Amino acid sequence: MSRVIAIANQKGGVGKTAIAVNLPVFLTAFGKKVLLVDIDPQANATFSLGIKPRDLNISLYEALLGQVSPKDIIKKTPFLAFDIMPTSHNLAGANIELVNMENREFKLKEALDIVKDQYDFVLIDCPPSLGLLTLNALIAADEVLIPVQCEYLAMEGLGQLLQNIKLINDNLEMNIKVLGSVMTMYNRKNRVCAAISKDLRRSFPGYVFDTVIPRTVSLSESPVTGKTILRHSPNSRAVHAFRELAREIISKN
Ligand code: ADP
Ligand code: MG
Repeated sequence: MSRVIAIANQKGGVGKTAIAVNLPVFLTAFGKKVLLVDIDPQANATFSLGIKPRDLNISLYEALLGQVSPKDIIKKTPFLAFDIMPTSHNLAGANIELVNMENREFKLKEALDIVKDQYDFVLIDCPPSLGLLTLNALIAADEVLIPVQCEYLAMEGLGQLLQNIKLINDNLEMNIKVLGSVMTMYNRKNRVCAAISKDLRRSFPGYVFDTVIPRTVSLSESPVTGKTILRHSPNSRAVHAFRELAREIISKN
């Protein structure tokens, strides 16, 4: 059985894409087959994995509109042991075109239902909004992983997202589970981080991962090189963190 996990937070810059492109490397190392789906029109995940969005003839956009089979847009890259459904910037247009389609919020689910059985994990990198594309991702997902940056006001966004998941579950009779929240850009020396971490664990008991993703320069550099953290800086503390996060996710099912 595959597990479809949306990596979501309507705030931008909280580390969604950093997790989306690095976590598969470590899930793969534990023997899991992984598909990463990029549903953010900014195409940061696609770009971070060395694929130029501009060079793609077909991508998630065409699959969501039903113009091509979702199977045909999956890319296997020779140097990464996981598959990618890349996106190009024209996905921004899908927001508008999808609006007029029937079952517009189920398009990603329909596409993933065709391919997900080939994988143990399907991870979806969401855009920084609660719009139609994120709604598609949440509906396609069995579970939601919520990266939270350790800063004040982080909790407000989290509460809003949890509320949205509840609305979807109640109104569409779905059963999307909150897999948990992972703290990102964690600075051990910063007292604010420690305070927020404590607050979060108290407010959402059982939902916050033990693992925190540290703030490291190597993570901010690796997207530009088209390499995952393991290739860019194998000795980074972040490598250890992603491995532990992968372990926690595998054990939580
Ligand atoms: P999102 O996808 O939520 O918008 P990103 O993953 O793109 O966020 O992260 C925003 C920026 O911060 C990017 O430039 C990224 O390289 C950087 N970044 C992400 N995680 C970390 C981290 N743990 N430490 C340092 N920089 C990070
Ligand atoms: Mg992103």
